[in-house]
Amino acid sequence: MKDVREHICDFGLSLYQRGLTHGSTGNLSARLPDGNLVVTPTGSCLGRLTPESLSVISPDGKLLSGPKPTKEVPLHQAFYNTRADDAGAVVHLHSCYSTALSLLPCDDITDWLPHLTPYGIMQLGKVRLIPYIVPGSSEIGRTIEGLAGKHAAVMLASHGPVISAKTLEAAVYAAEELEATAKLAYLTRSLEPNMLSNEQVQEIVKQYNVEWD
Ligand code: ZN
Repeated sequence: MKDVREHICDFGLSLYQRGLTHGSTGNLSARLPDGNLVVTPTGSCLGRLTPESLSVISPDGKLLSGPKPTKEVPLHQAFYNTRADDAGAVVHLHSCYSTALSLLPCDDITDWLPHLTPYGIMQLGKVRLIPYIVPGSSEIGRTIEGLAGKHAAVMLASHGPVISAKTLEAAVYAAEELEATAKLAYLTRSLEPNMLSNEQVQEIVKQYNVEWD
């Protein structure tokens, strides 16, 4: 059976090859059985990871083995700290359509992703938009901590999405859903698309047990 380090390399390569994050952008992390975190290293390309090249840090961010971790560790820690039972992995990408949509005006920063299909709602709940903060700043982590675990996914304006889930696989799939929904939103924005009604959204929330407070 593959261990979590190999999963990080496999998913990283797949995300990179499909252009969901480019160059040395994006970072992945997962919680190990002993409670420590395995994280992609600083400056690394998600398409070129190896299990031996990953960083292992303690929950409070101390480097235990491997190279220096991504400078965006605080935004990963913020999810593990505030969603203890629900965050087993965190995915951060610089995906194109999500970022494009974050540059445009939005109606509600607490429910940023438009209600275009049921799947974004099912997999992400309410996505919270976080106004622009300079990358690598500890303020990003503090801002996510300030949400007190209410959102599984946040969108960093002018930067990229951060998604947590119980497993790395679920976090990657949710990140892909966010990008697919953002692409639909971007493509149909000027065309007055049919949105799901509030009743239809509530039906999905109830049927699929979605976090929706
Ligand atoms: Zn980033």
